[in-house]
Parts: sequence; structure tokens; C-alpha cells
Amino acid sequence: MATVVGIDLGTTNSLVAALEDGQPWVIPDEAGELLLPSVVGVNAEGQLLVGQAARRQYAAAPERTVMSIKRQMGSDSLVPLAEKDCRPQDISALILRTLKQRAEAALGETVEQAVITVPAYFTDAQRQATKEAGEIAGLEVLQILNEPTAAALVFDKRGEESQRLLVYDLGGGTFDVSIVEITGPVTEVLASHGNNRLGGDDFDRQLQRLLAERLEQAHGVAVPRDMAVEARLLQAAERAKIALSERTRVAVREAYLLSQGESPLHLETELLREDFEAMIRPLLRDTLTAIDRALADARLKPGDLDRVILVGGSTRIPLVQELVESHLDGVAVSSFEPDRCVALGAALQAGVLNGEEVETFLVDVTPHSLGIATAMETETDLITDIFSTIIPRNTAIPVTRSKLYFTMRDNQKVVRVDVSQGENVNARENVPLGNFEVEGLPQQPAGDVAIEVQFSFDLNGILTVSACETSSGRQEQLVVNNASLHRMASHELAQSRTELERLFATLAAEAQVEGPDETEPRG
Ligand code: AMP
Repeated sequence: MATVVGIDLGTTNSLVAALEDGQPWVIPDEAGELLLPSVVGVNAEGQLLVGQAARRQYAAAPERTVMSIKRQMGSDSLVPLAEKDCRPQDISALILRTLKQRAEAALGETVEQAVITVPAYFTDAQRQATKEAGEIAGLEVLQILNEPTAAALVFDKRGEESQRLLVYDLGGGTFDVSIVEITGPVTEVLASHGNNRLGGDDFDRQLQRLLAERLEQAHGVAVPRDMAVEARLLQAAERAKIALSERTRVAVREAYLLSQGESPLHLETELLREDFEAMIRPLLRDTLTAIDRALADARLKPGDLDRVILVGGSTRIPLVQELVESHLDGVAVSSFEPDRCVALGAALQAGVLNGEEVETFLVDVTPHSLGIATAMETETDLITDIFSTIIPRNTAIPVTRSKLYFTMRDNQKVVRVDVSQGENVNARENVPLGNFEVEGLPQQPAGDVAIEVQFSFDLNGILTVSACETSSGRQEQLVVNNASLHRMASHELAQSRTELERLFATLAAEAQVEGPDETEPRG
């Protein structure tokens, strides 16, 4: 049976995935890269560049490079490339053809059919242009699938009852939120909202401006309007942003960025996660408003949702997860391979259309919260053993999270890290996993020494905890292997939740039978 591939044709990046033994997988290129930047260009010699090579030449040759073509799909606009005016679907076809070739090289067969995903808000013209792009690339497009639906397929357990999912998709250039209802084989988008001009690129530009200010402050010079300098600052900003998803502070070093007379000027600065968060918070608030609008359009309340799914590279930002979780308090929020899950869902659908056996896709999550013991001083008391969660339970793995802690005493020399798992606010009541100390802290007043504690939980269930004193870089680490960490697959989780709900329902029914006084309205 010839393989039908699933393609996520994204604004920033595109991916191709296929089904193997009932499980979808994203097909990498020869270098092992999964994401193909959705960038097309022509180099100085007139050779066509697609993907990373085109993206790399953007700063040097923007006039020969096309980015974000997805935004123009379905329009009549023409894009110049290699002295030719191209339609948006011609440019997209080049991306699709590259993905087709990638799949053929990996699968060792010709690939002629595909499912391609598009945003739920795409108009007919935009869908038609996408289909045409596939055909130009030599692919028969079996289905144009909505991105939120594709993401939902990865999580859907195809039970009897209908499930309502909210898909929050924050990528590089766009944001959209969709409410999807799945009943048996029917998947319907009930409402969709968003902002076509909001995404990780905006966060990069904000950080880029901050880096330019730091450069100006450090050297007392104005940063010239030079495309090469701007491009380097922008790339440094994106790298820093991605690092800040895992660390609470990052050092940014860009050597030889400018020159002043004969002397080169370097950028050397540090960015704090909290400063980045303060910067992007207003933009993220807009995304929460969009959630409310989508819910209102679908005539639903948060309590009517079964699950929230986070999709798109920018949902790896911890603040995004936190804000969505607290905005929809009580609804389970899942994030699994946010930048791959649309492609994986497209591959599942491709398999279904091809008549293949599709297995339930398992998303592995941390079954317990993982954290450390901390202390807090109040006006009258010192409260110890407060459990500070670093990875909340039900987080999809692999995952890395970190938090910053501060010393409590003047000239404190040692800090002890007690790691445990559980849900109790009192750390002592949770299951201990181990402990270690970081010694030789700099002699400073209480609260002046920061220790970053990082938890990494990998696919094999191994938890690595490291603690780093941020000024000296002094670091210690503890590895806890899976012997003591019971993992639960998400289907088990869903099962446990259902059982729990059933139990509650029975208890409530019994209470009504046994204690009618309690349930009667009081006058
Ligand atoms: P997508 O359109 O889903 O491919 O998402 C691309 C966007 O996600 C880009 O703006 C990336 O910089 C951003 N991104 C990818 N990984 C991370 C990360 N770990 N933390 C923050 N942003 C990320």
C-alpha cells in the first residue's frame, strides 16, 4: 500500500509525517531536522534554495528570499523570485515538493498522495490555493484538514461520547483558538478566533529592541539601521527567547556586532525570564480574550470543555501555559510536541483515508507533580517544608522546567535541595526522591544569592535535577531513574478520571437517597 503523507504547511515551518505500524512519525531530513523553514529563495548563482538555506540568506539577500507565503495564499498578489513573478501557490508548491522528496528519500518509495492542513479560519480561496499548491508539487491532495482538528486527532480517544476540545495555537506568525467537537468519526470546528499578526516573531522583535537598547547603553552609540546588524540581533533574540523557556536567565553574547572607528563593539548582556514575561504579557492577554470570544461564539462555558490542547512552538513558553491554565481553571491542559502535533494528526488522518489500522496515540505525561522543599519567612514565623512545584502533574514529557530561588540567611554558605513528588503542599508528606547540596555560595546578604533549580524529565522516565548558583555557575545535580517514578500513559489517566467521575456520581446519588433533608431546598 503506497504511503499517504500528512503535511503541516506552516507560516514559519513545515513538516511531513507518515504512519508506520499504526503510529505517526515526523520524517526528518538527512541532517535529522524535522522542521523545514517555510522559506524559498534564489542565491546569487541563480540556484533555488528551500528551507534552512533560504532562511540563512534572508538577512543578506531579502530581495531574493520569500518568507511567510502562507499569509498570501488565495490572493492575486504576485511575488517576484528569480526575475519571475510567482503566485503564492507556486512558492508553496516548492516547499511541498521539498517535503515530498524528503518523504520519498526516507520511505524509499514514490509519494503521490497527501493530507495538507490549513488554519480553521482559511477561506475557500485559501483552501483552493493550498490544494493547487499540492497538485503543482505532484501530490494528489486527498483532504484539506483544519489544523485544530489535526491536533485534536492526536489526543482524541474516539470514545462513544462527544468531546469538546479547545485548541490554542500560538506559532511564529499567527495565533488562533478553535473549539472542536468530536463525536465518533465526526469532527466539527464550533468556533474559531485569532489574530493573523500575533506570534513568536513579535516576541523576537520586542527582545531585539531591548538588545539594541542594551547595546546603545553599553557603548553610547546609536545602532545603525543596517539589515545585517538587525538580522543578527533578531536571531540572537529568538535564541534567547527559546533558552528562556527552559532557564530563568540567559547570557547573550554577539561579538563584532558594530565598530566604532577602528574598534569592534560586542554585545554582552543578560536577559531575565521575568523581564521577557513582563514584555509579552499584554500580547498574551489578547489571546485570553480570544478564548472568551470563541467560547461565547460556541455558546459554551469553560466547564463545558473536556480538554485544552496547546499547539505551536510559542506555547513552549512557560508563561503561555500558566496563563491559559489559570484562565481556564479546572480544565485539563495538554501540550504534546506542540510544533509537531498538527503534522502527526495529518498523518493519522492520511492513514485513515488510506484504510490503515490506526492505533490510539499515546501521550505520556508526568503522573505526579515534581518539586522541592522550600521555606518562607512571615512576620512572626519561619515556615519550612513548603512544596514548590517545578513540573506540575499531567505535563506531557519530555519536559524541562526551572525556577529561581533565593537564600534566606545572610552569608548562607550552603543550600540543600530536597526533591519529592506528590500533590501535598507540605513537602514532607510527598514521596522523597533524593537530595543534594550546593556548597560554597558567595557571601551575600539574604535574598541576594539566586539558585536556579532545573528539572528535566525525559521519555525514559529519568528525572535530572540540577541546581546552579547563577553568579558563579557553581552547579550540582541529581539523577533519579524511573524505578521510583511511576508513569501513567494518558489513556490510563483518562480512564482513572472517568472512574473517579463515576465514583463521584455514585456517591452523589447515594447522598440523595440517604439524606433527603440535605438535598431538599431550604426555605
Ligand atoms: P510554529 O509556527 O509552530 O513552528 O512556531 C514557531 C515559533 O515558535 C517561532 O517563533 C519560534 O521561535 C517559537 N519557538 C519554538 N520553540 C520555542 C521555545 N522552546 N520557546 C519559545 N518559543 C519557541
